[in-house]
Amino acid sequence: MNPFQDSDVEQARRHDGVVSLGGGRRLLLPRVFGFCGGVVHALAQLRRCLSTAGGQPIRLLGPVIHNDTVNEHFRAQGVTILSEAEILTGLESAGAGDLVVIPAFGVPLEIETLLRRRYPGAQIIDTTCRDVRAVWMFMESLTGPGWTILVHGKADHPETRATLSRALQRATRVVVVPGLAALESACRALREGSWAGYPQTLIHERGSPPPASGPVALVQQTTMLHSETLALGAAVTAACCQAGRHSQLANTVCRATQDRQDAAVEVCRQRPDAMLVVGGFGSSNTAQLHRLACAAAPTYLVQNAAALGAETITHWVPGAALQCTRPWLPPGWRTVGILAGASCPASDVGAVIRWFREQPQWADQGAPTTAADGAEPGPTQRC
Ligand code: SF4
Repeated sequence: MNPFQDSDVEQARRHDGVVSLGGGRRLLLPRVFGFCGGVVHALAQLRRCLSTAGGQPIRLLGPVIHNDTVNEHFRAQGVTILSEAEILTGLESAGAGDLVVIPAFGVPLEIETLLRRRYPGAQIIDTTCRDVRAVWMFMESLTGPGWTILVHGKADHPETRATLSRALQRATRVVVVPGLAALESACRALREGSWAGYPQTLIHERGSPPPASGPVALVQQTTMLHSETLALGAAVTAACCQAGRHSQLANTVCRATQDRQDAAVEVCRQRPDAMLVVGGFGSSNTAQLHRLACAAAPTYLVQNAAALGAETITHWVPGAALQCTRPWLPPGWRTVGILAGASCPASDVGAVIRWFREQPQWADQGAPTTAADGAEPGPTQRC
């Protein structure tokens, strides 16, 4: 049995994502949400590995995906999940026949090379998503010398670090562009041929810097906001054009991320009274859904149903901290949208649906009033 499946979610999908709670209240789920094909494939490989390990230790080089429910499930089955700081020492003690699993975001090339050279006896199960590999293949396809590669991604995300390490095989300068805030500065550097005014921690060089007029390539971490990648691509192309530099762009936001974002926008258009985004706090595609939803309604990013209370909610504010807000549902609310990224198991979404169904205070109240009916929303407080 797959512990991440959920019958309430299946039922919601059969009803076009609408869950009626009675009294005119309802939950809205997008037409696409939760596990993507890459995650399903990675977890299936890990499960197969567990069933055939025959007692051999299994070491996972970091979380398999960014979701605590999933990682804790595999930890409870005996999988050792090495933190970044533990990877090298964890590999030191790997013996012949041990199983070593590369997570879905991949690992930096140095780690993979070390693994394959030093521990030829270890069985390596590589769950790197093929969409992540496609980014690496694009970079390998760049011909000629003098490339600068821009990586649009979160500097501390394992996928960006894995991509960056491979970009340095192809280019002598690799620059991480974390978002639109850094774009202007990056475009100025492309036009002027000098990166002196750009955050130096985001610049990685190997050997002599490329010529100021050298070609430029742009790739993305697969889970960025699609609209942002388009804006970034247009600005980089324009800057290269002005500077007479050849540019090559790869739209490497994966289809699964794009589909989930498009479906989230459709939910936002229905103007729910509040939005819940369910998923891991370290998950990039979950954070992008949170960004989209914030523009539509009061939005709360929660790991699971345990964060929900009738009056208060404990939620993650990306870039800030865990926060408690009261009240979180506007008086007279009618609809709550629920989004979930590619790393969120259906079981966590199902638990949120059940939490709403089990709230007696709403079931007893009958049809809700709305602000228009006279119930003015009061101020929310941090608690
Ligand atoms: S979100 Fe995209 S890149 Fe990440 S595992 Fe899923 S399909 Fe692969």
